[in-house]
Amino acid sequence: MDQITDLNTNPDKRKNSVSLFAKAQGLIPGGVNSPVRAFGSVAATPVFYDRAEGAYIFDVDGNKYIDFIGSWGPMILGHRPPAVMQAVEQQLAKGTSYGAPCEAELVLAELITNLVPNIDMVRMVSSGTEATMSALRLARGFTKREKIIKFEGNYHGHSDALLVSAGSGVATLSIPGTPGVTEGAAKDTLVARYNDLDSVEQLLAHNKDQVAAIIVEPIAGNMGLVPPAKGFHEGLRALCDEFGALLIFDEVISGFRAALGGAQELLNIKADLVTYGKIIGGGFPVGCFAGREEIMKCLAPAGSVYQAGTLSGNPIAMTAGIATLTELAKDGGAVYGRLNAKGALLEQGLKDAVAAAGIEACVQRMGSLATVFFTQGPVTDWQSASRSDTDQFSRYFKLMLEAGFIIAPSQYECLFVSDAHTEADITAFTDAVKAALSEL
Ligand SMILES: *Cc1c(COP(=O)(O)O)cnc(C)c1O
Repeated sequence: MDQITDLNTNPDKRKNSVSLFAKAQGLIPGGVNSPVRAFGSVAATPVFYDRAEGAYIFDVDGNKYIDFIGSWGPMILGHRPPAVMQAVEQQLAKGTSYGAPCEAELVLAELITNLVPNIDMVRMVSSGTEATMSALRLARGFTKREKIIKFEGNYHGHSDALLVSAGSGVATLSIPGTPGVTEGAAKDTLVARYNDLDSVEQLLAHNKDQVAAIIVEPIAGNMGLVPPAKGFHEGLRALCDEFGALLIFDEVISGFRAALGGAQELLNIKADLVTYGKIIGGGFPVGCFAGREEIMKCLAPAGSVYQAGTLSGNPIAMTAGIATLTELAKDGGAVYGRLNAKGALLEQGLKDAVAAAGIEACVQRMGSLATVFFTQGPVTDWQSASRSDTDQFSRYFKLMLEAGFIIAPSQYECLFVSDAHTEADITAFTDAVKAALSEL
């Protein structure tokens, strides 16, 4: 009950959430099934939701909020987009899981290979974690090398090898690395500094012929929004070619968000393997990894690198993915122009709010992703991100919750704009930010 009395959010307004959370803590570790959902770092009680529609989400006490998390990215069309709902309802009538091939898997794979440059084949899995874990195994099998390079502050899901210096969730909870990951699992993971090519080159030079792959969030979203510096990805591509390592773009957030063809298209870089999740499931659990035929054919049963999944290619999830990507591809991807315009409106409003409050903060944005960092900035890597004043963030978070806006309960996350947000929603949000910042 300590947490509840600590609340400076209004517990009376959220009585049902408070009592559900009290019960949840006895049933689920920490009361949540994924750590960032707990409002621990902002010293508040998580909100339990009842339903969502468009840009809005409603809690179990009947409060309505404008949602700027969108399930951490998947709901790029907003909640319950009609085209996706109809497709899923039709598939529900035909069965929920076959554990065997179905045509929807091909339709989604074909959509992805058509929309994304530079990939021939796709393997479906059920989460982003599985996608990156499997892509690494494939890269190791293909190159017959064992080490990998990742970047400090980039998150690639919770598989052992990738849970080193892993950004938001781990950072928010202040867990240094994490117990349960053995030295053996972590020792082949080399950590470089984001936007710092020298740090990568040094690792490659010291581990010649041993590095299977460099895995990177092409647009970093798990230490707050950190855009790639000019030339960073061109440099990574050249280093991978020079040292014989594969370049893996983890596009679990940026895929079908940065552009229809993801960050590869936006930044004009060809990765060797690409991982997806979030948006491609349209709100259902899906991930996939994809790449050139030569690499992908090493996967079982075509090749010898084993990878499998009972619910992989699940017909309901495939159907939701197909409907979502089809909506995004409409009119040549006109949705991205709308998302960018709303992103720009958001950025300007946030910058005005920061200037009006006269506080030390910076606003970073790319497309429909943005973060207000409570530090002077610019934020270019984990070191600069971690200078943020997280106490200030937590006061800001609570004021925003009280004002009726759902944002991630962590400094090291993004605001996610969806096609369902109206200009009025964005302006209401930036007005509330202005009021909140002036109260800090
Ligand atoms: C969310 C995320 C993952 C993990 O995906 P899950 O579906 O949560 O397992 C991997 N990489 C990036 C970049 C992500 O943002």
